[in-house]
Amino acid sequence: MTATRVLILGGGYVGLYTALTLKKKAGNHVDITIVDRRPYMTYQPFLPEAAAGSIEPRHVVVPLRRELPGVRVVQGKVTEIAHAEKRVRVDTDFGATQDLEYDEVVIALGAIPRTLPIPGLNEIGVGFKWVEDAISLRNTILGRIARAASTDDPHLRRRLLTFVFVGGGFAGIEAFAETEDMARAALRNYPELRPADLRFVMVEAATRILPEMGEEMGGYTLEVLRGRGMEIYLATRLESCEDGRIKLSDGQEFDADTVVWTAGVKPNPVIAESDLPTGPRGHANALPTLQIATEDGEVVEGAWAAGDCAQVPDLAKGEGAWCAPSAQHAVRQARLLGANIAAHLGGRPVKEYKHEHLGTVASLGLNKGVAQIMGVKLRGWPAWFMHRTYHMAQIPSFNRKARVVMDWTTALFFRRDLVSMGRLHDPRRAFKEAAES
Ligand SMILES: Cc1cc2nc3c(=O)[nH]c(=O)nc-3n(C[C@H](O)[C@H](O)[C@H](O)COP(=O)(O)OP(=O)(O)OC[C@H]3O[C@@H](n4cnc5c(N)ncnc54)[C@H](O)[C@@H]3O)c2cc1C
Repeated sequence: MTATRVLILGGGYVGLYTALTLKKKAGNHVDITIVDRRPYMTYQPFLPEAAAGSIEPRHVVVPLRRELPGVRVVQGKVTEIAHAEKRVRVDTDFGATQDLEYDEVVIALGAIPRTLPIPGLNEIGVGFKWVEDAISLRNTILGRIARAASTDDPHLRRRLLTFVFVGGGFAGIEAFAETEDMARAALRNYPELRPADLRFVMVEAATRILPEMGEEMGGYTLEVLRGRGMEIYLATRLESCEDGRIKLSDGQEFDADTVVWTAGVKPNPVIAESDLPTGPRGHANALPTLQIATEDGEVVEGAWAAGDCAQVPDLAKGEGAWCAPSAQHAVRQARLLGANIAAHLGGRPVKEYKHEHLGTVASLGLNKGVAQIMGVKLRGWPAWFMHRTYHMAQIPSFNRKARVVMDWTTALFFRRDLVSMGRLHDPRRAFKEAAES
């Protein structure tokens, strides 16, 4: 009997866990291929700590080839999904185009930053979704601190040391709080600079931050961060950032060289361009069984979807609710998705996804955090400890768990590493200078 060809598009949370479960449950009956632009899964909840220097960035990614022996990994960008022909087009990172054929396809392409046409954003804005974003933001912040210390121009210094974040959901707030904590620690090595020189500004269009945590814990976080001297403007929008001139909807204007965009995500656009049925915002339209279906609920044979790129009914919340984009749903959906494909291929019934949201934990810098888990609210050190324990347990593979714990332990004794590797972004500079001299 020939093995069923299962093609998984995206090797993030959903891609990795679907492949692991499918391998376990269907073994030799499936021939699995994963396509991803990156040869690793990114453990995104650890990006703020990677940016802050508490975890080595390489340790927050999980190499797909190593974790998935026996699975073919294609490194490239999915540019076209033609389900009627059961074919996917991939542009590899090495300049070639490949057409991959399949029997069953899993859409696990996640989300991309949801930006707005704000003047200047395309020129100076940076995202915070991938490990390269975390490395770059860390180098940028530390590099700007070093540059600010070397100038006597107060205007330039202020501009260099003003860091603007847009979007106060948990990814934005964690990135904002962790990098501020790191910047403040770095400032101790610069006698030329005062803590008051540093300006961290959060702009949030809604009337509260951390909506995932509820009003009380969002309010607590607001108080804690403002108490640290961080500026948070609610019900305010970024209107323009042309040439680093920041204009806010409340009339404020100031200069900043760094704008970090963390204002939400949207489903990967390649899905809406495909012949698969999508929801109103471009998500793959999925049934609770994670099978893709038409608007009328008719199953599209051979197509499955889960995670941030899928619109999956949230049966725990009831009629009309959809699962929010979160790692918590992505991992659980992926395990069910792998099991459902195996069941479907074996002629057994598929099951429905239902998961009661357990809560949210967020780190706000070293020894600081906020959490709401199954109705229990935690603040400060206990929440921070819970954040670390939870994510350590969740990061895939013993190898990554051990490396992350080693990073934390080393930082306990030697403090976190605050060296800027800005020259990584221009690796040939020293060699070119030598060649020209
Ligand atoms: C900073 C940050 C912190 C977060 N913290 C938390 C948290 O604490 N708790 C929580 O529950 N959730 C958290 N999340 C959200 C969580 O990480 C996502 O919900 C989760 O990653 C979704 O999994 P996924 O598999 O759907 O997508 P992803 O994990 O994003 O995987 C999608 C994969 O598709 C690949 N891909 C994309 N486009 C293409 C293409 N065209 N061709 C080929 N490959 C492609 C990508 O490289 C990626 O590997 C956080 C997110 C961020 C950004």
